[in-house]
Amino acid sequence: MNMKICVLPGDGIGPEIITQALRVLSALDLNFELTEAPVGGAGYRALGHPLPESTLRLARQSDAILFGAVGDFSLDTLPRELRPEQAILGLRKALNLFANFRPALVYPELVQASSLRPEVVAGLDILIIRELTGDIYFGQPRGIRVLENGEREGFDTMRYSESEIRRVAHVGFQAAAKRGGRLCSVDKANVLDTMQLWREVVSAVGREYPGVELSHMYVDNCAMQLLKNPKQFDVIVTGNMFGDILSDEASMLTGSIGMLPSASLNEHKFGLYEPIHGSAPDIAGQDIANPLATILSAAMMLRYTFNEAGSAERIEAAVRKVLAQGFRTSDIFEPGTRQVGTRAMGDAVLAVL
Ligand code: NAD
Repeated sequence: MNMKICVLPGDGIGPEIITQALRVLSALDLNFELTEAPVGGAGYRALGHPLPESTLRLARQSDAILFGAVGDFSLDTLPRELRPEQAILGLRKALNLFANFRPALVYPELVQASSLRPEVVAGLDILIIRELTGDIYFGQPRGIRVLENGEREGFDTMRYSESEIRRVAHVGFQAAAKRGGRLCSVDKANVLDTMQLWREVVSAVGREYPGVELSHMYVDNCAMQLLKNPKQFDVIVTGNMFGDILSDEASMLTGSIGMLPSASLNEHKFGLYEPIHGSAPDIAGQDIANPLATILSAAMMLRYTFNEAGSAERIEAAVRKVLAQGFRTSDIFEPGTRQVGTRAMGDAVLAVL
């Protein structure tokens, strides 16, 4: 199979970390066709737009996007639609990337980086699937209006159609079936009608997956359980707003932003794969950024878009091995380990592969 990958390095540390991910991919015995294009601040500077037409066209012609990061403080005075971050929103919308995958995994060697006690997080391996294109963030009507008494009122609308819930529920069950076989659907069905429908539809979809154990949890309880006993979870599926908050909470259980990959998928398994961190302008160009989140994003791409679970596992095992060997970039450095730069970390992964 010829895997067509659109490579979008973006801004700041984006090009440095993407270079290492591409080196790792090229060490595997797979058939890639790579095309690169500017995005974010780099897109604006080269072609006048954070998501240039030509970049979007290239993305559409590919099977997956490997994305670095966007963000450039010197462009923050531009009108909102021309700011670098608009590129991600534009890609999500144009390519209908409705399912956001955020694994939170605690490596034994990095257990000290978590703000929770080691016994609470050691061995943690959860996957949060957040619906990405619906909910209160997009629901109409919304706005700020003036009431009869002259006071202003802000309002937004939480909405989910059955089909939107159903498709992300299927994604959740399928992901759980490939992992520990447990899916927890998170909602607020006790208070919100939208979430009552969410629970009904997820339960109905669940009958098609007898091999997956489904549970339901209210979002406030889930926020507590993630801190109290996060290892009880395998896969969590939830709506856009709850997922936004819970996935950030879960990522902090691991304590290391430079280690966390993510994916945003549509129903055809087309995916945008990116580290969860931003463009880190404070450390750009210094060869000190941690490339592992991007390397692990490439592994997710192999697993979810290209069905190459074996190759994904090879990369993930190589990352575990370099951590066990003591290699650390500055963000995860501890006394007694071996501090390396971006490229040297890529070298270490390649050496294991
Ligand atoms: P950030 O994630 O870029 O950086 C936060 C902190 O973490 C910084 O101190 C940075 O040096 C450090 N850090 C981040 N990634 C690292 C890595 N791989 N290795 C080592 N250290 C790392 O967040 P920010 O500083 O709030 O934002 C910077 C820019 O990135 C802004 O323009 C923001 O809008 C943008 N941003 C983009 C994305 C994205 O592209 N998906 C996500 C978040 C922020």
